[in-house]
Amino acid sequence: MYNRSVHASILIVEDEEKLAQAIALYLRNAGFSVEIALDGQAALEAFERHRPDLIVLDLMLPKVDGWEVCHRIRRESDVPIIMLTARVGEPARVHGLELGADDYLEKPFSLRELVARIHAVLRRTGKKSQTVIRAGDLYIDLEKHEVWVRKKRVELTASEFALLAFMAQHPGRVFTRLQLLEAIRGSTTETLERAIDSHIKNLRKKIERTPQDPEYIQTVYGIGYRFRDTKL
Ligand code: CA
Repeated sequence: MYNRSVHASILIVEDEEKLAQAIALYLRNAGFSVEIALDGQAALEAFERHRPDLIVLDLMLPKVDGWEVCHRIRRESDVPIIMLTARVGEPARVHGLELGADDYLEKPFSLRELVARIHAVLRRTGKKSQTVIRAGDLYIDLEKHEVWVRKKRVELTASEFALLAFMAQHPGRVFTRLQLLEAIRGSTTETLERAIDSHIKNLRKKIERTPQDPEYIQTVYGIGYRFRDTKL
């Protein structure tokens, strides 16, 4: 069931800053939490970092255009995408939907219409939004910021939680220390890659049965860490 409407996080990708700000203000007033990216590259970075619940994506963008942003995000995520475009006509619409956009809005549009579409798309795709991750004995509630392992609640620091949540949302994928640091930026003030190692060590002590032989957070020698892929 779609139950995140009030706090759903939305990434707005729009290079016209005034328009982006106007959309952001309207969506915040409608109860969403909002982030803005002013070009395609920033959009991809913001997506990796914050994993929004929905993306409002302009097509004509500097650096990486909206089609490419959509294409790249679709390779790894089902996050709902609503495309915005000044282009009128069927071919652009069809192309956008082929790339996996969930809906499509032609400029100029009313902000009220945009909010209606956002609600509709979230409702339609709500089952996909992941707020709880289960892997073996480990249970992570991304909304409540709670972690349970072997039926016991584990208290994590903000950095540890951000690190665990980020990795667990990308099971099987390898991250360098620098990528992990980037991913949890904002929840920590530490800047040394080594800080990741000590977070990982502490995390393992708290969630692993045998921290020396970890079941969940695996070391990939010479690169970094990955959260176990339960599908393997
Ligand atoms: Ca544009």
